[in-house]
Amino acid sequence: MVPCYNEQEALPIFYDTVEKIIHEKLADYDVEYLFVNDGSADNTLSEMRTLQAKDPDHVHYLSFSRNFGKEAALYAGLQNVGGDYIAVMDVDLQDPPDLLPQMLDGILDEGYDVVGTRRVTRAGEPPIRSFFARMFYRLINKISKTEIVDGARDYRLMTKQVKDAILSVTEYNRFSKGIFGWVGFKTKYIPYENVERVAGETHWSFWSLFKYSLDGIVAFSETPLAIASFIGLLSFVGAVIALLFIIIRAAINGDPTPGWPSMVSIFLAVGGLQLLCLGIVGKYIGNIYLEVKHRPIYIVQEKK
Ligand code: UDP
Ligand code: MG
Repeated sequence: MVPCYNEQEALPIFYDTVEKIIHEKLADYDVEYLFVNDGSADNTLSEMRTLQAKDPDHVHYLSFSRNFGKEAALYAGLQNVGGDYIAVMDVDLQDPPDLLPQMLDGILDEGYDVVGTRRVTRAGEPPIRSFFARMFYRLINKISKTEIVDGARDYRLMTKQVKDAILSVTEYNRFSKGIFGWVGFKTKYIPYENVERVAGETHWSFWSLFKYSLDGIVAFSETPLAIASFIGLLSFVGAVIALLFIIIRAAINGDPTPGWPSMVSIFLAVGGLQLLCLGIVGKYIGNIYLEVKHRPIYIVQEKK
C-alpha cells in the first residue's frame, strides 16, 4: 500500500519501477497495489485512475475527501488491503523497491513476522535536520518503553497477523513509528543507504517534523508529565529551604538589605516553570480531547 500526496510525477515512475522488479524477481507472486490519495491538490487522482484502468486486476486506489496526513493514509491503506503479506512504501522511490524480494525472503525463509528497513546514512539531507533527528531518537528511546529504531522507515513488509495487530491500535493521534514497535513481533531491519526522491519534493518542513516528534513523544511516553512534577517538587523544596534560611538569618541578624531584584527574578523563574508545566499538561489534555471525540481518522470519497 502506498500513500500519495501531490505525487503526480512520482506515481507513474513508481508503478513502472515496481512492475519491472515484480516481473524480474517476484513473478511467482500475485502482487496488488493499493494507492491512497491523501487529498492531493494536483493530478495524482487522475494518474491513479489511469493506472487502474490500465491494470484493473492489480491496481486499486482510495481517495480521501481532503488531506488527512500520512498517518491517516497508512491506517486507511492497511484497513483496505487484502493479501497474506503487506508492504508499506512511499511513492517517491525513497523506499528502494529492489529490497522487496529480500524482505519477502526474511519472512518466508528466515521466519520473521516483519521486515523493516533502516536508513544508515542521511546523505542529501540538511545536516541540522539529521542532527535533530538523531537527538530525537536518542531522547524518545530514553523516555519511552516502546523501542523506536533510529532511521527506521515506514517501509516494511509484514504478515497479515501483524497488519491486524496494527489495526487493533485505533488511536486518533497515530505515530506509526511507535505503533510498529509497540505491537512487537519478530522484526528484522535491512539497512540501506539513503536515496533521494525521484520527483516532486518532500512535504516535511523543519517545523512540521518538530511538531511530529512532539506528537511521537506525547503518544509514547508519560515522562514529560513526570518531569513537570519533578520540577515543581524541586522548586518547592528549594523555596522552603530558602525561607528557613531567611527566617533564621532575620532572627539572628535582624533584616539585612531588602532583595527586591532577586525576588522578582525568582517570581519570573517560577512563573515560567509553571507555564512550561501547564503547557506540557495541556498537550496531553489536548490529545485526550482529540481522542475522546472519536472522529474518524479519514474519510473516503472514491474507491476502486
Ligand atoms: N504523504 C501523504 N500525506 C501527507 C504527506 C505525505 O500521504 O500529508 C506521502 C507522500 O506522498 C509520500 C510519503 O507520504 O509517499 C512520504 O512523504 P515525503 O516523501 O514527503 O516524506 P520524506 O520522505 O521526506 O520523509
Ligand atoms: Mg520521501
